[in-house]
Amino acid sequence: MPLSLPGPRSKEAYRKALALFPGGVNSPVRAFKGVGGEPFFVARGEGCRVFDVDGNAFIDYVGSWGPLLLGHADGRVVRAVEAAARKGLTFGAPTEAETALGEAIRRVMPSMERMRFVSSGTEAAMAAIRLARGATKRDLVLKFEGCYHGHSDALLVKAGSGLATFGAPSSAGVPADFARWTAVLPYNDLAACEALFAGRGREIACVILEPVAANMGVVLPAEGFLQGLRRLCNAAGALLVFDEVITGFRAGPGGAQGLLGVRPDLSILGKIVGGGMPIGAYGGRADLMALVSPEGPVYQAGTLSGNPLSVAAGLATLEILEATKPWDDLERKGARLEAALADGARAAGVPLAIARSGSLLGFFFSAKPPRNFTEVLASDAARYSKFFHACLDRGVYFAPSAFEAAFISTAHGEVVLERTAKAVGEAFREI
Ligand code: PMP
Repeated sequence: MPLSLPGPRSKEAYRKALALFPGGVNSPVRAFKGVGGEPFFVARGEGCRVFDVDGNAFIDYVGSWGPLLLGHADGRVVRAVEAAARKGLTFGAPTEAETALGEAIRRVMPSMERMRFVSSGTEAAMAAIRLARGATKRDLVLKFEGCYHGHSDALLVKAGSGLATFGAPSSAGVPADFARWTAVLPYNDLAACEALFAGRGREIACVILEPVAANMGVVLPAEGFLQGLRRLCNAAGALLVFDEVITGFRAGPGGAQGLLGVRPDLSILGKIVGGGMPIGAYGGRADLMALVSPEGPVYQAGTLSGNPLSVAAGLATLEILEATKPWDDLERKGARLEAALADGARAAGVPLAIARSGSLLGFFFSAKPPRNFTEVLASDAARYSKFFHACLDRGVYFAPSAFEAAFISTAHGEVVLERTAKAVGEAFREI
């Protein structure tokens, strides 16, 4: 029996929240605007499931948008947080645990020679851009359409039409004067990058991108794209910045850079470093990090940076990952979900394209996997919305937007994947 959603308590909770928060939420995508309807309100999570305030259970493929590689409320992580909490919530003074977490990150991601902890991915990306500009004494930043790096001014910029257009703000409140320092090009279009570098290479401070794009669904980098960017940056003296907020530790122990063999100058990490608690990190070449205050002239600071609870959760998570090496298992689970989606779509005669990197999966209602944001937008988002609700009614929670990824955790077991396959098959037939 499909569920009838949202339940009465979620409806009431949403009504109250609407009076208080814009859209009833504290981050826009939670409001279900991308798929229609009203959100359920979460009471708790356990392993691969979330439970709403009406007592409905959902198999969770959102996983707080990526960080929950071990699923919800993993006992080992929770105990580490409890132990840290008993010793004090925040000091604004250095602790040994921060160094232990930094060393754990560097062990698996050697390009992070030195680093700085902050409190979110947005902050990490903003600080990395400032460092790149400070280090190169250049202002221009190149980003790609459909890549998301948080909501700082320099990165909330979208191109107009045509190649190498200079940004127009994609949010009210971002001065056009700022936006013109951000160039935006289509993902996977190395020729367009070459053209921009040929004209303005010496003005470019950095190229920033998700090495596997996961904020327009999932779009894999084309053969040679990352290597080509590395080459262009080297020739022009620009820095290559990988945003591994999603891919860090998930794509493999060393993130996408470890998997794909391209070494960035700077990397951005986020939520995944905190095992689900607020944190971010940026880091990379030691000579660049020496420019950050108090060693150098690039200012950046934060009261809660490296706070004890996030660090404890992150350290516990990374130690478990190091000890259990779950990536082969996550790859198998990713392949299982991919097969479930592909089989269900085929049986119902629905065209579906799937892009996957291990436990990170994107699916599009289109005939072939998109290579860039324009192609992503050409997929059938209205059909995604129907599919989303058909799955949710059957207790399977995919992202409430056609342009987000599905995340699998070590807690998604065989029985759950089997149940997902059945629900997904029914959902494809229904739509
Ligand atoms: N970069 C990427 C690739 C992201 O996916 C996100 C958010 N999901 C961010 C940066 C911003 O992180 P936060 O929401 O923690 O500010």
